[in-house]
This record gives sequence, C-alpha cells and structure tokens, in this order.
Amino acid sequence: MKKLENKVAVITGGGGVLCSTMAEHLATLGCQVAILDLNKSNAQKVADVITEKGGKAIGVEANVLNKESLVKAKEEINQKLGSCDILVNGAGGNHPKGTTSKTHFELADLESNEEMTTFFDLDPEGIKFVFELNFIGTLLPCQIFAQDMLNKTGCTIINISSMNAFTPLTKIPAYSGAKAAISNFTQWLAVHFSKVGIRVNALAPGFFLTEQNRRLLTEEDGSLTPRGNTIIEHTPMGKFGEPEDLTGTLEWLCGSGSSFVTGVTIPIDGGFSAFSGV
Ligand code: NAD
Repeated sequence: MKKLENKVAVITGGGGVLCSTMAEHLATLGCQVAILDLNKSNAQKVADVITEKGGKAIGVEANVLNKESLVKAKEEINQKLGSCDILVNGAGGNHPKGTTSKTHFELADLESNEEMTTFFDLDPEGIKFVFELNFIGTLLPCQIFAQDMLNKTGCTIINISSMNAFTPLTKIPAYSGAKAAISNFTQWLAVHFSKVGIRVNALAPGFFLTEQNRRLLTEEDGSLTPRGNTIIEHTPMGKFGEPEDLTGTLEWLCGSGSSFVTGVTIPIDGGFSAFSGV
C-alpha cells in the first residue's frame, strides 16, 4: 500500500514548473492526480508523463478565476477519478505591470529620460491581475473542491505562498501583497475548517529558477544578474532551489504524519527567510 493510495489530488497550475513536479511526486505516492491548468496541452503533457510511468492522471483545462470553469472541471474529475481529497493551489504568478523598474525611488527619477515604471506609474489593472490570480485564484478552487472534502477524513489543502509574504521583495509590491494574503488566508481557512477535519497549510518556496523569473535572475549566457547575485548572497545554502526540493514537505503535509498541523506556511528556501543579511 503506497502512502497516499487512492487519494484524489487536484493541482491547479499543474502544467507549470513547480506544480508539475509536485503532481508527479503525488502520483508516485499512489494519488490519482487531476492536473488543472489554463493551458490544456501543458496539463495533458504532465498527465501523460505520469501515465507513462504507471500512475493515474488526467489533464483538465480550467481557469482558477472562473467558478463555472472550476465546477465543470470538478464534474469531470469526480466522474473520472472520484471526489477530491487533496487540493494544491499552485496557479499564481506576477505581472510586469505590477512591478517597479527600480529598487528605490529617487527625486531624479521624475526628471529622467530613461524608460522606467516608478511607483507613481504602477497600473491598477496590473496590480488587480496579480491579486486576482494569486488570491481569488486560490479562494475559488477552495470553494469548489473543499465541498468534496466535507464528511471525509484525511483531506488537506496546500496553498503556495512565497518568501515575499514574510518580508516584501523589492520592485514587486503586488505579488508581495498577494502572497502575504495567501499566508493570511491559509491561517484563516485552517481555523474555519478545523471542525470539519480539513487541514490547510502552505508552502513558501524560496527562489527557484523557472521560465517566469529566468530573465530576472540570469543573463542570456547563464551568469547571474545583479538581482540573482543578491538572492544567492542572501541564501545561506548558496543556491537556487530545485522543484524536487518541495516534494518532501508536500508529502509530509498531505500525509498522516502531519495530522495535527494546520494553518502553517513552511519556508523551503535554503535559509533565505532566516538570514538578516548581516
Ligand atoms: P509557472 O508559471 O511555471 O506555473 C504556473 C502555472 O499556472 C502555469 O502552467 C499557468 O498556465 C497556470 N495558470 C496561470 N493562470 C492560470 C489560471 N487563471 N487558471 C489556471 N491556471 C493558470 O510558475 P511556477 O514557478 O511553477 O510557480 C508555481 C507557484 O509557485 C505560483 O503560485 C508561484 O507564484 C509560486 N512560487 C514560485 C516561485 C519560483 O521561484 N518559481 C517562488 C515562490 C512561489
């Protein structure tokens, strides 16, 4: 009997870098996995990899910002795999319109001819996009899939927070605020669902090199950008994380070994959040 045999796991953003690795890992533990993504073909590719290795998985197109789309996905999952035991809310990300060009604002920026986005230029639409994708895009799947978890045991929700939820990262106020909201919501929902046996926790990944942030952290030749360098200097373990670094904590939070753990956000960050920089 595998550790999570016959559990049904739903992973939003499962076509992406971090969540595809999490989906594959849950499948090795015996979960039947539904990979939800806006990008159906990426979701299907991940499902195919799992199926080729002997696991059970389906790729499902779904938009975490659209309730009807999630209800439709749930119907398909219930019919093909059964009712949901584990929900991983992985869909999320930043947007350039919620990002300032520079770390610090200086008066000279007002007169500068350089192309730049200062705090005063930030586009509310960009900010809204980031808050909606990360926060509403976590809340709605909880509303839909937690319905399956009522009257069952061993059900769990895993949200994906970030380093910037503890202390905001420079330049990305929207993403920082939205991920802080995820950590806060993780505590709120853990308390709210505590009497019906659904545990709610979050992972806070440190810095993982993915397509989304590759241009921010590395130059075209693969060397580190100044921002990439600063991150490594502030990561006591001296490296970026690999997606596989998330799977041990995920496995623990989904299994019975963490049965008295709810409402926590666990940093997986090579010590970044523990280091003051001095
Ligand atoms: P990624 O871009 O590879 O994956 C995100 C996936 O979400 C994509 O496949 C995308 O198609 C999907 N998606 C986007 N909008 C969607 C929507 N409306 N509905 C359904 N699916 C949607 O990103 P990743 O780096 O693997 O990040 C996964 C999660 O981890 C995100 O929440 C991200 O914010 C968080 N995170 C990443 C890092 C990192 O260093 N990469 C660090 C901390 C937290």
